[in-house]
Amino acid sequence: MLTNDELAKWDRENFMHPSTHLAQFARGEAPQRIVTGGEGAHITDRDGNRLLDGFAGLYCVNVGYGRQEIAEAIAAQARDLSYYHAYAGHGSEASITLSKMVMDRAPEGMARVYFGLGGSDANETNIKLVWYYNNILGRPKKKKIISRWRGYHGSGLVTGSLTGLELFHKKFDLPLDQVIHTEAPYYFRRPDASMSEGDFVGYCVEKLEALIEAEGADTIAAFIGEPVLGTGGIVPPPAGYWEAIQAVLEAHDILLIADEVVTGFGRLGTMFGSDHYGLKPDLITSAKGLTSAYAPLSASIVGQKMWDVLERGTDENGVLGHGWTYSAHPIGAAAGVANLKLIDSLGLVENAGTVGAYLNERMQAAVGDHAHVGDVRGEGMLCAVELVADRDARRFFDASEGKGAKVVAAMLKRGVIARAMPQGDILGFAPPLCLTRDEADRIVEVTAESIAEVL
Ligand code: PLP
Repeated sequence: MLTNDELAKWDRENFMHPSTHLAQFARGEAPQRIVTGGEGAHITDRDGNRLLDGFAGLYCVNVGYGRQEIAEAIAAQARDLSYYHAYAGHGSEASITLSKMVMDRAPEGMARVYFGLGGSDANETNIKLVWYYNNILGRPKKKKIISRWRGYHGSGLVTGSLTGLELFHKKFDLPLDQVIHTEAPYYFRRPDASMSEGDFVGYCVEKLEALIEAEGADTIAAFIGEPVLGTGGIVPPPAGYWEAIQAVLEAHDILLIADEVVTGFGRLGTMFGSDHYGLKPDLITSAKGLTSAYAPLSASIVGQKMWDVLERGTDENGVLGHGWTYSAHPIGAAAGVANLKLIDSLGLVENAGTVGAYLNERMQAAVGDHAHVGDVRGEGMLCAVELVADRDARRFFDASEGKGAKVVAAMLKRGVIARAMPQGDILGFAPPLCLTRDEADRIVEVTAESIAEVL
């Protein structure tokens, strides 16, 4: 077996890690962790640490680590049929079963599911389907996609453009021209402190309408949004936001893509975030919770209105030229089937609602009054604590001080993983949906101690 030092050296010399400061890592100045195992809400590493994972990996290990049912389903699938493609009507028992299970759980009005590998490619699929749709309808100009600042939709060319975070654009020549951004429904950072939630929803609507007016509705194909903004800061929308936005989209014949990569399959205490907020999307993007990350798999769920046009399109033009080698990979599909069964049998959607509400309440009570906590917010098994320099003035820390990252580091020393969200001093929590109340208490206790230590 390799020693820890050997592994660390190979890692620095060979492995280009995603979302990492490459130069610091290569010089050995950035943290390294070699993860070896996991059980429930905890992971273990080569240095002998056992850490409570308050972020479920990257909000994806929803059923928790070490689920033997899923491991066995994957092993059995690999033995029976490790791979066959899904082109031209081919499938496997696992992929067909999973398609039925996804559609049985999908919000009303959805017609079919397309399987890919991860959230980014599922969004790419959805954007292509939107463009195809408008071409079939004879509206070749109607192609632009509206996304929100602080939205996160992936880091490919189109999806990185949709993502409304500067880090993902800087020096990559993004966003592409077809993507335009509008206001994030981020009430805490409203432009004027005297605005009520209702005023702020009105402000977001005005911004959207002005953008549509400026660009021309005949050039805008779709609006994409996460039911709750995730990577942009874990921000639930103010009351009435989605109803008001959907009314504008309908008035201008603009499709809605609900990016449910984080919220899909239970995280908000409902099967989909669309159910939670009454969204009526034309397309849904999902990934993470579909397999709880036991294997890579995504699902683009297509609404009936789109589906009718897609069928018409192939009658007129032949085969839809879109597919990946690994679309509906049987091993991913087997993981998905076992995962969804486990979510049902363990009642994890309900647990996300109840323990998630408990986590949010406890967090509010423990740190909500701290002089440097500006906002504690969340929904279901999502929670965020926003740190500020001055709470009354809503003045933020200078980004270079890295206060959020310092609190996260202090938490890690105490054995709890939180995430310093990439824009602002925001501590993010998205634990596995199987979190217990005791584990929620531990997260809260460590957060409070660490904030007290750093601030
Ligand atoms: N959409 C949302 C809402 C996400 O949070 C993410 C990833 O965090 C993605 C899309 C991209 O998914 P992936 O990283 O699997 O490509």
